[in-house]
Amino acid sequence: MTFKELGLNDALMKAIDDLGFENPTPIQQQTIPLLTNKSTDVVALAQTGTGKTAAFGLPILNTIDITSKDTQALILAPTRELCVQISNDLKKYGKYLKGLNVATVYGGASIDKQIQEISQGAQIISATPGRLVDLIDRRAVKLHTIKVVVLDEADEMLNMGFKDSLDEILEETPATKNTWLFSATMPREVERIAKNYMNDPAEVSAGKKNEGAANIKHIYYMVNSRDRYLALKRVADFYPEIFGMVFCRTKAETQEVADALIKDGYSADALHGDLSQAQRDFVMKRFRNRTLQMLVATDVAARGIDVDNITHVINYNLPEDIESYTHRSGRTARAGRSGMSIAIVTGKDSGKIKDIERIINKKFEKAAIPNGVEVCEKQLFHLVKKLHDVEVKDEEIEKYLPKVYEELKDLSKEEIIKRFISEEFNRFHAYYENAPDLNPGSEGSGNARTSRFFINIGQLDGFNRNSMKDFLADAARLHPRMIFNIDVKNSFSFFETENNCVDEFIALNKKGIEFNARVISFEVSKAKPSGGYGEKRSYGGGSREDGRRSYGGGERRSYGGGSREGGERKSYGGGERKSFGCGESRAYSGGGERRSSFGGSREGGERGRKEKNE
Ligand code: AMP
Repeated sequence: MTFKELGLNDALMKAIDDLGFENPTPIQQQTIPLLTNKSTDVVALAQTGTGKTAAFGLPILNTIDITSKDTQALILAPTRELCVQISNDLKKYGKYLKGLNVATVYGGASIDKQIQEISQGAQIISATPGRLVDLIDRRAVKLHTIKVVVLDEADEMLNMGFKDSLDEILEETPATKNTWLFSATMPREVERIAKNYMNDPAEVSAGKKNEGAANIKHIYYMVNSRDRYLALKRVADFYPEIFGMVFCRTKAETQEVADALIKDGYSADALHGDLSQAQRDFVMKRFRNRTLQMLVATDVAARGIDVDNITHVINYNLPEDIESYTHRSGRTARAGRSGMSIAIVTGKDSGKIKDIERIINKKFEKAAIPNGVEVCEKQLFHLVKKLHDVEVKDEEIEKYLPKVYEELKDLSKEEIIKRFISEEFNRFHAYYENAPDLNPGSEGSGNARTSRFFINIGQLDGFNRNSMKDFLADAARLHPRMIFNIDVKNSFSFFETENNCVDEFIALNKKGIEFNARVISFEVSKAKPSGGYGEKRSYGGGSREDGRRSYGGGERRSYGGGSREGGERKSYGGGERKSFGCGESRAYSGGGERRSSFGGSREGGERGRKEKNE
């Protein structure tokens, strides 16, 4: 089916042609004939990436009277980003409609400017519900001339707590209007809106209820919870051309994972609600122009993000609410492309995987976490491909070539290739040479990598679990997360740490630190580590080329209770960045040299970070 057959006017056809859209997408094929110049309500099940903006935008643009200055269509969307995107899309589709005015209104920006935009005669308003309610309260917007209300990503609007605002707005619009509801999922609350505010709506769907796009491959990796971060790095290294989104559950986790990735030399950054709008815009700009390879985000912050060509969505943690999985994975495989949605899960998530499979109506593939050899191989062939496709600047390089040829004249073509490749390969190989197998049950994973310590201080010295953790972290200069399973007894205690942090504690014996006039002794306990510690302890980080470690986050943390030596309170912290104690302490390259992956694409992350800090 072609756009021409759908009955759109010439001005729209010309704009579609300019955009290079050849054929309408399945959802457009259904909605455009149904909604163009017709009066009907509709419930459409469609995710972002299916072409849903044009699916409601083209019928609106075809129907409205652009000679009038009345507001005729209202589009409600959950986030500022989505509102702006919808307006931009409508302006593109309507670029040959003379006199078209689209106003964009959302919170966090000057309301006066938005009021001015509306008063200039906007036939279409794209709004977030909260800001629109403000405008209604100020009587800055007239809704009695509205012919169509679109509820875009209705499920997200309800998730974000806009239920009351939606009710209020819908009450304000004339009873004669049509309501078009677009949603990726159809929870009960969305059905309630459909029932309360819509008149015998037609139903269209770009897929089954809540079903994800067909061209997404879903895989999961099973890990021990402490290996989650290492698994993430492994996955990123295994897909050298990754351009992906990493979803975390909380803002704090999002920041921590992004910080750890940046520190480990990846091109990554965080997007979450604790960042200012300007910071978020900055991060998004870098992601859109691909200065960033990985965007680490919360569900809320990622809503409405429209970035094409995302190759991978990584669920660092599965979402609390499993329906969010459809939204997450829908960020990849857009506009007919294919993509991969990866979940890093632990044993306790098995039930959730089954629930998600039911919702997306597709099976996950259980994959083994790639080992070091597999990663090296992938990186090697990535390098070979890059080398093959590299742009050669003949003019610039020509003058150096005679000398280069002279230098290499004793080597055959094969030797030269081998050496050239080795220059990069050796770095990765050195990093992955002894990399542990992260698949649970293997020797390298989980408990085998932790050690248990006995220490001769306890409750009688005024310690509880928390103060002991802080004390030990302070003494060994490790992140508190590296100390776990603390068992404080009367006059002694046990704790666990990762094997590669053991030296830090043994070194303290030599230093002979005292507490209550007693020398503290750290002994590796014979007993088996008990394992099973919390989720967030897996941050490898640990590129320690400069020999320094930084502690603490943005806030200053002070450790220890009143029982600290000399009554003195020590505190450390400071800088914006957190580093995560020990872990894999191998760096890609020695001597503080800038790390890079085989492809060298990671440098962008560090550069980008510097720009931001400056
Ligand atoms: P949406 O689902 O509205 O977020 O659209 C996803 C992407 O598909 C956007 O980049 C659109 O510009 C693009 N798009 C929309 N309709 C078509 C079409 N018929 N053919 C090709 N691309 C389209």
